[in-house]
Amino acid sequence: MKLADDQEPATPGVDTHAAHARAVVVLSALVATHAGRLVRSFYAAFLAQPEAKSFLDREVVETRLVPSLERWLGELFSVSGEVDGAVATQRRIGEIHARIKVPFHLVMAGSALLKRELSGLLAAAEMECATRVAALVHLNERMDWALSLMSEAYMQGSVRRAQVDEAFRLFAIGHDITLERETQHAALMEWLQSTLFTLFEHEVEPVLKPLGKSPFGLWLHHRAGLMFQGSQGLNVIRDNVRRIDADLLPQLLRARGDRGGLLRELLARLRGTVEEIKFVLSDLFQAAIGAEGGRDPLTQALNRRFLPTILGREISLADQGDLPLTVVMVDVDHFKQVNDRWGHSTGDLVLQQVAGVIMDTVRFNDFVFRYGGEEFLIVLVETPAEEAAIVAERLRAQMEERKLRLADGSFVQVTASIGIAAYKGHPDYARLIEAADRALYRAKTDGRNRVVIATDESAAAVERR
Ligand code: GH3
Ligand code: MG
Ligand code: MG
Repeated sequence: MKLADDQEPATPGVDTHAAHARAVVVLSALVATHAGRLVRSFYAAFLAQPEAKSFLDREVVETRLVPSLERWLGELFSVSGEVDGAVATQRRIGEIHARIKVPFHLVMAGSALLKRELSGLLAAAEMECATRVAALVHLNERMDWALSLMSEAYMQGSVRRAQVDEAFRLFAIGHDITLERETQHAALMEWLQSTLFTLFEHEVEPVLKPLGKSPFGLWLHHRAGLMFQGSQGLNVIRDNVRRIDADLLPQLLRARGDRGGLLRELLARLRGTVEEIKFVLSDLFQAAIGAEGGRDPLTQALNRRFLPTILGREISLADQGDLPLTVVMVDVDHFKQVNDRWGHSTGDLVLQQVAGVIMDTVRFNDFVFRYGGEEFLIVLVETPAEEAAIVAERLRAQMEERKLRLADGSFVQVTASIGIAAYKGHPDYARLIEAADRALYRAKTDGRNRVVIATDESAAAVERR
């Protein structure tokens, strides 16, 4: 037995170097023999997961993925162990996974399955014990190496994709959305003017251009769908456009000679329908302008999806300047009863005013998020817990006193429970939110309409009512 000078055998009498070399050959041969079966059982397990089904179908698996996974396994465990090309391959796979949005935990599960199957094959095959051990180590090392490169590329790919998605959303929604609103409003009115002009002044046998084929109609068909995806208002506008083109315009043409009541009535209906389009359109734009500013259209509180960005940034600022920072969680008490008693739209109206009370109570530089249905999260910047408790108590009292107006002119009063947590230096913002949430839970279980500050061990009530 020949050992390198600087190398000691792990076990007396065992040449680890030679065992490793044999293990590489054995594993490579096992993979070559069983790759087909391994890969099929891999995809059978994969496709059994409902999550996987949504982005892979059987045909793609058969024609493209089975051969490419076989090739990947062969290369990963090849005897030559060529590194540069293999690194590039793992990165490329990670990027593809990110692009097609394969959840990474499925990739991990797949790798665990392959490891398990290959370990089983190694256990069953005839070989020296030292070779078997070396082969198991080699198997795990190669798989983990590939996975770590993939996950690195996956993360980079996902971040890039998120940036692109956001950029596209901003583009699609229109960076100059106010201008777009004015333009479409003008296009609609121009169509109405020119229709009326053609109808009365212009030709002996006028031809009316359908609204659906006008510049406004084109915009509605192509851009508005992208901007206001899935919104009910858009359907209302489309129905109105169809009604104008299919019913009103032909009727107007027929009634042209009639200088009496029918024509007047049709014209009034045309104007009314265009007015309704204008009204719904303006609502849609208003909501989109709010969304673009990151605000929830009902309450005007900040949209929760900006919370990670804003709270993450505030935590860095607190660290850099050694400044206090506090998170306050507010949940309206028994809000279900408001909905049950007066209906959901009245509930909405109440919620809008609750948000108003919160925004009137905090400073301009604080951040108010709509965290859930009737739950708000406030980030009080440069504010220690004791000060935050004073603000929260003021808010609680305001809420209790304020008479909130209902649509029928009557009033309702609601209370809120409040949890407070101060930033203690942990970089994960989720901890801070969880602490505030626990304090809020205490406020609820202690009887509601109260403020509770989170402490390290438990939450202490600042006020017992
Ligand atoms: P408590 O918090 O005191 O335990 O009681 P709750 O009745 O407020 O209970 P919970 O927080 O579980 O329920 C909140 C209710 O708020 C449920 C849901 O119907 C209602 N809600 C959530 N979002 C909205 C909304 O946008 N508009 C309206 N009108 N109601 C909403
Ligand atoms: Mg509630
Ligand atoms: Mg709630």
